[in-house]
Amino acid sequence: MKLTFIGATQTVTGSKTLIEINKRNFLKFLDTHIDGIILTHAHLDHSGLLPYLYKNGFRGPIYCTKETAKLTRIILEDSAELLKNEVPSNSTTLYSPEDAQNVISLFRPVKYNESFEDGKVIIEFFKASHILGAAFVRLTADNTSIVFSGDLGRFDDLYLGSPEKLVQTDYLVLESTYGSSIRESTDHMKELKTIIEKTISQKSTLLISSFALHRAQYLTYLIKKIFFLYPELKIPFFLNSPMMEQVFFTYLKFKDTFKEQTFLDFSLTEAYQELNFLDHFWDIEERNNYEGPQIIIASSGMLTGGRIWSHLKTMALKEKNILFLPGFQVVNTPGHKIIHGEKLIMSPEQEAIEINCEIIHSSSFSSHADFSDFQTWMSPRIKTLKKVFLLHGEDKAKTALKKQLELQSLNIITPLKGESYTI
Ligand SMILES: [Zn+2]
Repeated sequence: MKLTFIGATQTVTGSKTLIEINKRNFLKFLDTHIDGIILTHAHLDHSGLLPYLYKNGFRGPIYCTKETAKLTRIILEDSAELLKNEVPSNSTTLYSPEDAQNVISLFRPVKYNESFEDGKVIIEFFKASHILGAAFVRLTADNTSIVFSGDLGRFDDLYLGSPEKLVQTDYLVLESTYGSSIRESTDHMKELKTIIEKTISQKSTLLISSFALHRAQYLTYLIKKIFFLYPELKIPFFLNSPMMEQVFFTYLKFKDTFKEQTFLDFSLTEAYQELNFLDHFWDIEERNNYEGPQIIIASSGMLTGGRIWSHLKTMALKEKNILFLPGFQVVNTPGHKIIHGEKLIMSPEQEAIEINCEIIHSSSFSSHADFSDFQTWMSPRIKTLKKVFLLHGEDKAKTALKKQLELQSLNIITPLKGESYTI
């Protein structure tokens, strides 16, 4: 078995690893033949290259859970549309909306905890709880096994439940995005309730920047539950992202995979009833001119683009308004600049936007495992793991995690881009 690390070795984007087993090549690149692709979850930094591979002739199977197949379709179609609008009409795009649609036909949806074979390789998907459908994957061939963690979620997640613990494996490829830190466990309901109370007392707009996939669904569940439990806090609530609506449908369709006891008093079906999406510019204008209180969730999560900019220009000017950033903000993103106090921010259209409103940042809403989650996840296998390859993290975080794991006598490798290992 040979592994080559192609992307996300020292960053947090573009995750891809080539696996060569018994002459079968999983996820390869354009200069070599690809037999199949294993997709751990729908996020664009994992799935974004699929239409491009299709455009360049890939026609093999893409294995993923059925939830991931549905969500990836939504994400790829959205990103193909964005690409089309960004690129001048006389130049060629990375891929077309047709490539994004066609690549979906190659998806081979699989179930969690069911093994299947491709060539002589046994493949199994296990619940990772990072977003709906996310999986970690074990490949076994010639009595050697390797697990790819993908992005791992959090233990005791109120919404999706805990990931399945690490299964028996010789080798582990661990995507360690936020794995070196320990996040305080926060009561998200309480945190949001306090912010909503403040929004009401100030008659302000609470503008929440959120990823359209997963975080928007989680925040909406919490907000609607607060409205249900405390009717006096019920205020106008809107969502603004063309992609979000479809993701809500998918989350509802697969509602049985969520943590059951969470929904005993307030179900997902109740939460996602009567959602108000801002589909037209006049709806957006109306909300921008409304003198609160109100809540708007808009994409994107780090203000790198998305509909949130259609509100920021007006709303960020007013001191009484609140901009809530419930997640990790990558360095150099507008979200990162705002939480570090910058008062003049460039919009994606290169227009300077004044930020006078109150900024609230909380990194506790992340659906990425932290160090204690990794500990819990790996605990049954620490003694039998032969090697752990650390991927998908910024350098500082990865070095810190490497040190922490080495204290437990684990053999840790941090591969560089393009490096190969035979195991
Ligand atoms: Zn992810």
